[in-house]
Amino acid sequence: MVGLLGAAGLLLAFGLSREFNGLDWSADTFLGLNLGAWSVATSFLVVFLIVQLVLNARATLERERRLVETAAALRETGAELERLARVDPLTGVLNRRALFERLGAEFRRSQRYGRALTAMMIDLDDFKALNDRYGHATGDQVLAACARAIASNLRESDTVGRYGGEEFAVFLPETSLADGEFVAEKLRAVVESLEIESPDGAAEGIEVTISVGVAAMPDLGTPDEQALIGRADQALYQAKRAGRNRVVVADAPAIPTPRTAVSEAR
Ligand code: GH3
Ligand code: MG
Ligand code: MG
Repeated sequence: MVGLLGAAGLLLAFGLSREFNGLDWSADTFLGLNLGAWSVATSFLVVFLIVQLVLNARATLERERRLVETAAALRETGAELERLARVDPLTGVLNRRALFERLGAEFRRSQRYGRALTAMMIDLDDFKALNDRYGHATGDQVLAACARAIASNLRESDTVGRYGGEEFAVFLPETSLADGEFVAEKLRAVVESLEIESPDGAAEGIEVTISVGVAAMPDLGTPDEQALIGRADQALYQAKRAGRNRVVVADAPAIPTPRTAVSEAR
């Protein structure tokens, strides 16, 4: 626009001011204007147009740069929103919905290909008493510290999520029951040895322990992921009944004997 206006202005100036005909590069005229004046005006027009093109290109580049930046910022915000929708804000581990999404996928994979999969249910021991003694805010800090301790002692391929309240669920793909029990015992020991400062400054600090129930696939008697969690949960209650701060492995469910085998045995 600037270039066009500039060039038009120049042409007008040449047209209005016949003195410019004094350039006299050629005796010929076109539309009553000296051809020398035409070529000077055309040169200016070309220069102005080039300047205009450069300015346009720079403005377009700047607009594109801003668009790319905005798109990147939107992508980042989208990813952050997606992460927030999957993560429990207090503990930083997966929330219940994300936990079950992942467990469902792992369970189907285990069932289809007969791969090992261990599930654990973890519950903090006597947490109500801890809240009553130290207050809810400290209870929250203890809960978050336990979640961090559990998460940081698992493999990248493992999953930990907050099942609810002071309960967590953990899944270990490609892990047998025996190996799962070993990991559960490690987690129990790690939480037991946590050093958490008491808000009242007491020298002994806050003591916290967990009980863990463990169940594993493949298992013909476990039809879905809820049943697997249910078996781990039963084992957890056994751990509670047995005195807490311990790991209990689920009994394998009774596998129904095929009818043919029963009739053959008769
Ligand atoms: P048990 O060993 O049998 O599991 O005893 P418990 O006291 O841990 O179990 P109970 O189910 O009686 O109490 C659970 C407590 O966990 C009560 C509840 O207030 C507390 N709790 C649940 N979610 C949170 C939380 O997000 N923050 C805090 N501070 N406490 C929580
Ligand atoms: Mg509890
Ligand atoms: Mg509980």
